[in-house]
Amino acid sequence: MDQFRKRYKVLSLFIMVLLACCIILIFTFHIMRLMDVYILQGQSSIRKEKELFVMDGVNNMVSDVDDARADVSELYEKLSEETAVYLANYYSELPEHFLEFCYGYFEIPDSVERYDALIENTETGEIAYQSGPIPLRGELSQLEWVADLKESLAFYHHRSYGPYEVYWGVDREFLEEEQLKKSYEMIRSINFREDTLIWVDEIRKREGGENYAIRQYDSTQPTKGSTFLSTTQLDAVGRAYHEAVLNNLNRSGSSLLEYNYVNTKKDRREEMLVYSKIYADYNWIISMGIKSVTRNEFEELIYDKRMAIVKTLALQICLVLVVLLAAAVIAQMLLEKWYYNRSGKTLKEQANSDALTKIFNRRGGMTCLEQTFKKFKENADGSAIVMLDIDNFKTLNDTYGHEFGDQVLVQTVESIKRHIRSTDVFVRWGGEEFLLICFGLQPEYLQYFARKILDAVRYVEYQAEGDRLYVTVSMGIAFYEAEDAEFAQAVKRADFALYKAKENGKNQAAVCVGDEIFNCE
Ligand code: GH3
Ligand code: MG
Ligand code: MG
Repeated sequence: MDQFRKRYKVLSLFIMVLLACCIILIFTFHIMRLMDVYILQGQSSIRKEKELFVMDGVNNMVSDVDDARADVSELYEKLSEETAVYLANYYSELPEHFLEFCYGYFEIPDSVERYDALIENTETGEIAYQSGPIPLRGELSQLEWVADLKESLAFYHHRSYGPYEVYWGVDREFLEEEQLKKSYEMIRSINFREDTLIWVDEIRKREGGENYAIRQYDSTQPTKGSTFLSTTQLDAVGRAYHEAVLNNLNRSGSSLLEYNYVNTKKDRREEMLVYSKIYADYNWIISMGIKSVTRNEFEELIYDKRMAIVKTLALQICLVLVVLLAAAVIAQMLLEKWYYNRSGKTLKEQANSDALTKIFNRRGGMTCLEQTFKKFKENADGSAIVMLDIDNFKTLNDTYGHEFGDQVLVQTVESIKRHIRSTDVFVRWGGEEFLLICFGLQPEYLQYFARKILDAVRYVEYQAEGDRLYVTVSMGIAFYEAEDAEFAQAVKRADFALYKAKENGKNQAAVCVGDEIFNCE
């Protein structure tokens, strides 16, 4: 049995450990999958943010270029307007030197490229001054000529100062060059984060091919001169990146693509998300790229945290299982103990009680006798030992059968039980003979006690085979006496008293004290 229990314990321990491993594995597997979902989700959110960032970046650059050009335009519009004020002031003060002033004004190095001007002397009909590619009137009507002037000049002005008709405006080519210069300046001045790049490519051939564009500006190499690009060039993963971008641009005016390149500093391939847009006025492709976070980089970032979570979880599961295991072992031990106690008690009870009448049997009675005698010897706590025997029981048995006899035995016990104390011990000594141990029963109460028991039995009426019957008992009583060496001596005296009660006519009680017999009537 013990061998079996030992095996059973080892088996349950093994099952628990197996269970712990399974739970840890399942949890780890699911955590890893959960992390994968987070990585994918995180990557796609970061990519979306980056898409927005580069798109906003390029769109802002486009509007910044527009603003820079507008600023230049505004500046020269103002300057050309102010020219009218200078000329008017000068003419009102020194009209005779007006022409010299105009020469100086339109010819100074700063202005010569800026302004195109024509001064007509209406008195002489001569052209007094002309600069830039301003067209002459020739055969044209005044209206047609002015229309031509307006076409070739930005911010056309015409004023009359005395005999002089002065026409001027800003050289359109000069203005455009200034705007272009300013636009580049603006782009060069942009400072983005470290992982962000800007390119400006000037398209020469919208259909692509060799030298389809010139890289005019590259924020990674701002001082590098222009380089030619071709759509046959391949990126680090062998893709014709420029061709793909050009196709997108030709199709929709913008492009969002991954560009793969080799980071020579880190000696590894990296990826960049690039947004490109056509700036039609300059035939530019304005691009902005931002370094992508690859899956490996992302995993590196969260690896430590992920491992920490998995470790903590595994530890917690182990702890919970250890506690559960300990609780199960303790519960099992307690259960076993309780079970053995309970079954032991039942066995003991069964061994000490009589199957028919449910009171103590002779064996149980002996134990009680031993205990009470011991008590008597220790504290002189007296107990009365009463032997009872059903009168003429054999005749009852023979006449009405054994089953009826049993019924009488049970009923007699029940009747007597109702008249004794709960502390008294009732024993079936054998057959139809009983023994009562009555604690603290004083001799002066004997008569009363005997009468009570005799009456309790004799007034019970039985029906057997149509006859009405009554049963009586005889009682022999004795006490533990100081001279007694064992309880058996007291039992013997009680037996002797019983014998005397029978001899004396039955249905009565006798008490034996020392060698003497007294009737209890
Ligand atoms: P006395 O008045 O002298 O005691 O006479 P008695 O007939 O009662 O005496 P005896 O001791 O000769 O008879 C006892 C009988 O009780 C004998 C036996 O058959 C019967 N008996 C003993 N145990 C049981 C039992 O468990 N059930 C039944 N029905 N009868 C039993
Ligand atoms: Mg009898
Ligand atoms: Mg008998």
